[in-house]
Amino acid sequence: MDFNLTSDQRAVWQWARDFADKEIAPKVEENDQKAQFDFDLMKKIADNGFFAAILPEEYGGQAMDHISYALMTEEIARVDSSTRTLFSVQISLVEKPIMEWGSEAQKKHYLPKLASGEMIGCFGLTEPNAGSDAGNQQTRAVKDGDHYVLNGQKTWISNGTIAHVAIIIAQTDPSKGHKGMCAFLVDTDTKGFTSQKMGNKLGLKSSDTAELFLDNVRVPESAMLGKPGEGFKVAMYCLDQGRFSVACGGVGVMQACIDVSTEYAMEREAFGQKIGEFQMVQSMIADMAVDCECGRLLVLRAAHKKDQGVRNTRETSMAKLFCADAANRAAYNAVQVFGGYGFSEEYPVARIYRDARVLSLYEGTSQIHRIIVSHDELGLRAANGPGMPNNPIDRYSNPADLD
Ligand SMILES: Cc1cc2nc3c(=O)[nH]c(=O)nc-3n(C[C@H](O)[C@H](O)[C@H](O)COP(=O)(O)OP(=O)(O)OC[C@H]3O[C@@H](n4cnc5c(N)ncnc54)[C@H](O)[C@@H]3O)c2cc1C
Repeated sequence: MDFNLTSDQRAVWQWARDFADKEIAPKVEENDQKAQFDFDLMKKIADNGFFAAILPEEYGGQAMDHISYALMTEEIARVDSSTRTLFSVQISLVEKPIMEWGSEAQKKHYLPKLASGEMIGCFGLTEPNAGSDAGNQQTRAVKDGDHYVLNGQKTWISNGTIAHVAIIIAQTDPSKGHKGMCAFLVDTDTKGFTSQKMGNKLGLKSSDTAELFLDNVRVPESAMLGKPGEGFKVAMYCLDQGRFSVACGGVGVMQACIDVSTEYAMEREAFGQKIGEFQMVQSMIADMAVDCECGRLLVLRAAHKKDQGVRNTRETSMAKLFCADAANRAAYNAVQVFGGYGFSEEYPVARIYRDARVLSLYEGTSQIHRIIVSHDELGLRAANGPGMPNNPIDRYSNPADLD
């Protein structure tokens, strides 16, 4: 086991850190206070090649590995979770699923444009009555000659009003349950497709969150992503990717909490000494640091498995669960270190605290991830698929044995 990053991975990490500090940080507070999506910033992200990170070169990508992608995502999240959401959705929920499930024509059409930022994508799974219960899709896709006609509503869709293409999960045959589901690549300028921004959010205020409405949206058969009946599999694949980037985001949030708390603790004085000299303040900072390091290791292990091309549902789920909940603990403690000033929007901790909350909600709530992990432990359903060895050591030493 090698804990060292390669020189390329270190360079990417530094590059992303510098970009985040120079280009994202100066605008974060204003964008948050005005609850505005920053199109200029998105263009800079695109122009600097961030959206091209892990796609193969033949589709306009930079062919980075998942460890590099994890480090980039962490750095963006360290500075701003809203920007991290834009980045995560584009890569994990749109580019990667097209790469994995798309036809050659779909890959050639969409991937170079997504990599360059000429196109932005979104992923539409959640509906007003289908969140955790993702198999209960009410959006319908009805075959009509060589087209499908889609009707339904999606909610809480990140990048929803700015997207040029949406992955839409829909039911074609309710009698077949999740095996009747299909995934479609829907261009958002297709007649009958509309979106509406969702406001009044607790956090992620400068992230674009929307409802999508599909009113007799006609798409050709060739718009299907994967085969008929594979929509649920596509959706679960998307979540495996999206959850990973949320876990990376959690590490970034924890690192931000450590950074702002340590700086403040060595400035602020009480009872004639720096508050960082009080052991109870040190204890909070120690907890943040240990959680951050545990989270980073879980993320990098999941990244390593992704780079090996083996199933990683279990590892990704563990990383997402731990990092989301630990980031919330860290944000809670960061506010505590700031005392009353932590309750003010004058300092970044208030925004970090609000933004951290969603990590335990989207891409599978923490309850759903506890179900995935516990079912795996109990042998009720193997997260990494059939054939997974029961001996935990084998799980990690023989990944090639997995399906
Ligand atoms: C800011 C934001 C951005 C989002 N972006 C996207 C996006 O881009 N695309 C997309 O498709 N979705 C997106 N979502 C939706 C998100 O994934 C869902 O909100 C999430 O999956 C939970 O679904 P729900 O809100 O319907 O909650 P519910 O499923 O109604 O859950 C409510 C509560 O019940 C619990 N619960 C539900 N089922 C069980 C169970 N079986 N066992 C134990 N507890 C259970 C949950 O854990 C939760 O505590 C986003 C959400 C937010 C807030």
